[in-house]
Amino acid sequence: MRKKADVVVIGGGSIGCSVAYNLAKKGFKNIVLLERKYLSSGSTGRCGAGIRQMWGTEMNCLISRGSAEIFKTLGEETGFGDVEFRQSGYLLTTYDPSQTERLRKNLAVQHKLGINSHMITPKEAKEIVPYVNTEGMDAAFFCQEDGHINPFKVTFAFAKGAQDLGVEISRYNSVTDIKYKDRKITSIVTEEGEILTDAVVNAAGAWCKEIGKMIGLSHPVEPERHQILITEPLEDMMGPLVMSFAHDSYIQQVPHGGFIMGYGNPDEPKKINFNHDWSFLEQMAKKAVFQLPVLKDVRFVRQWAGHYEISPDGQPILGSVPEMDNYFMALGCGKGFMLSPMIGKLIAEKMAGEATSLPIDSLSIERFAKGELIVETGVV
Ligand SMILES: Cc1cc2nc3c(=O)[nH]c(=O)nc-3n(C[C@H](O)[C@H](O)[C@H](O)COP(=O)(O)OP(=O)(O)OC[C@H]3O[C@@H](n4cnc5c(N)ncnc54)[C@H](O)[C@@H]3O)c2cc1C
Repeated sequence: MRKKADVVVIGGGSIGCSVAYNLAKKGFKNIVLLERKYLSSGSTGRCGAGIRQMWGTEMNCLISRGSAEIFKTLGEETGFGDVEFRQSGYLLTTYDPSQTERLRKNLAVQHKLGINSHMITPKEAKEIVPYVNTEGMDAAFFCQEDGHINPFKVTFAFAKGAQDLGVEISRYNSVTDIKYKDRKITSIVTEEGEILTDAVVNAAGAWCKEIGKMIGLSHPVEPERHQILITEPLEDMMGPLVMSFAHDSYIQQVPHGGFIMGYGNPDEPKKINFNHDWSFLEQMAKKAVFQLPVLKDVRFVRQWAGHYEISPDGQPILGSVPEMDNYFMALGCGKGFMLSPMIGKLIAEKMAGEATSLPIDSLSIERFAKGELIVETGVV
């Protein structure tokens, strides 16, 4: 490992790799990315990998829309090859008029920003996803440009792009401490030794708080376990991801034929926990069979757990912090995978002192102290 870097990026998930790639593209030299396990071993490699633009806040819509554009050419641009981006749509279903009204309001935000989403009837939903159960369904919302992409390939594509531009990626190398003087980080202590650095990016996702503590800061981001499972592969029968706010769940058929599915448990304790349990399997099966009765006799083949990095308002935390001059945060906050291309781009612009492509000042960590939260309610 190099002993001196211009920038150290902590975390080898989709966001850290995107940040490193975008910094190198912008002309930053001598970048080192530190990952304590393998690339994508954190939340990225465990996620549902849904790509959605139908959000309720302008910033989430804009960042996800920009990211979807980048996903289209990422494989080619980095020379990695196909990253399996399929824009097969998202179908959001509602089961009571208040949910419908909330999502209908979100449509206005999306349309203002040019996102091609629609409110449709249950009958129209069935035309798009013939296997969906419309019993009790109040309405549905559809965006064809949403979809799915392979999270491992995305991370490896960013990493390849970064390495080709000279970034050093140091795997199985944990950050154990950070040294700083006054308002400046001076070096990062790792399992493989110390590295002097001019700047640091915290892209440690659900572990970002631990990194913050090393410089005496308390980041308001908590890890929340989310479980997920995949079925045996079936014939190609469903393009869009089906997300129900009544069931707090999502179900999607991925390219190899398996149905991937998960739901959020509001009572989940906020801590790192990689265990997965029987009760999730039971509840998920009930939710899935209600929404897609065709899945009744399908076998599950694998279940696992990962973490959302939960911020108090469900929006990313991006940019510098008031207490330190050379420390930047790059956190997606529960949907970081789909936002990772733009987060990398925006952080690189910010660190280069340029005007950012999107106005990200409202996403600075300072918003929590100032009470300037704009809450995203549509996180499942
Ligand atoms: C079940 C589930 C489903 C999800 N579904 C979706 C979805 O459909 N769409 C979506 O966009 N998002 C989804 N998410 C959320 C998404 O996975 C995360 O928001 C995203 O992957 C965060 O990316 P990241 O790069 O910030 O974090 P990570 O991928 O977690 O990367 C952070 C890395 O930092 C490393 N690290 C931590 N501490 C240290 C240290 N001290 N030293 C060195 N390295 C360190 C970790 O090992 C880790 O690899 C889902 C998450 C889960 C768990």
